[in-house]
Amino acid sequence: MLPALPPEKGEAEAAARETREDGRAPQEGEVRTRADGGAARKAAAVFTSLASGLGTLPAAVADASGAVVRTGSAVRELARTATGWRLTVGSAAVPESVAADAVILALPARPAGRLLAGVPGAGGAAAALGEIPYASMAIITLAYPRSVFPEPLARGGSGYLVPAVDGHAVKAVTLSTRKWPHLAGGTAGRGPDSAGSADARPSGAGRAGAGQLDIVRCSAGRLGEEELLQREDAELAKLAAAELGEATGVRGEPADWRVTRWGGALPQYLVGHLDRVASIRVAVAAQPGLAICGAAFDGSASPRA
Ligand SMILES: Cc1cc2nc3c(=O)[nH]c(=O)nc-3n(C[C@H](O)[C@H](O)[C@H](O)COP(=O)(O)OP(=O)(O)OC[C@H]3O[C@@H](n4cnc5c(N)ncnc54)[C@H](O)[C@@H]3O)c2cc1C
Repeated sequence: MLPALPPEKGEAEAAARETREDGRAPQEGEVRTRADGGAARKAAAVFTSLASGLGTLPAAVADASGAVVRTGSAVRELARTATGWRLTVGSAAVPESVAADAVILALPARPAGRLLAGVPGAGGAAAALGEIPYASMAIITLAYPRSVFPEPLARGGSGYLVPAVDGHAVKAVTLSTRKWPHLAGGTAGRGPDSAGSADARPSGAGRAGAGQLDIVRCSAGRLGEEELLQREDAELAKLAAAELGEATGVRGEPADWRVTRWGGALPQYLVGHLDRVASIRVAVAAQPGLAICGAAFDGSASPRA
């Protein structure tokens, strides 16, 4: 079993002050309950994770399940059979057929739609899935010497959100080493955005030693902001640092930075989304042994995906 992070002392009070990362401010009742303390205080951590990093969860689940997991095997075709489903996997040159009793489509909307397009009776769902747009994003990770963080930022807070009407490139900032104290003892190259950062190329101006850095994770890229994301990594890092300085008073150059790009990664819930999702669910439910899930439907934060 993976170790969960223990709740921090005073975390409930801090959490009640903070904006949730999913953008929802704590409700009045939530704040009061937590401030009142007692059992609710312990149970009410806003942010929880795994000490080993959330990226270790899929491997742990796979190990515990005893299932055979094949990665790097894109499914290219889905077809009903008399007893279940047939998946066509692998390259067009060397296709492989996999028979399945049941299928869960845990894919982004467009590939899910492409697979459903060939299934009799699922054409409407396929079309509706194709209508869900995705925004691309960049995570700009900045490392600062701990000393440059001004009070009261240095005392607490996990980050902030920037509304689109403010006209800034950065839409959200996570003070990673403040939000996740277990990261504070690491180096700039480890941990700040453990999800998907393995291919991230460290760059910038060298590294300070372990425990001396504050890691800040800036998210950029809303729907339609492709032009912003076409900028060079160094330019994005400079822009993020400038906006962070403007918002928080952090001064000077980051000691290190890196940019991790996520193309077409965040589903957008446009007007009519709920109806669209309802129609997809009805069509999928009519297919025996088929289910669908993922960030495209009921919430894009990991616990809901
Ligand atoms: C930059 C970024 C930061 C985020 N930060 C947070 C955060 O701090 N907290 C939080 O709660 N959420 C966060 N999210 C949201 C959350 O990570 C996602 O919503 C969630 O991971 C989506 O999970 P999913 O399983 O629906 O889709 P995905 O994780 O996209 O998984 C879909 C999988 O399907 C595979 N696939 C696609 N096509 C095929 C095919 N034809 N055959 C087989 N496989 C296929 C893909 O390779 C992929 O592995 C963040 C998202 C992004 C992009």
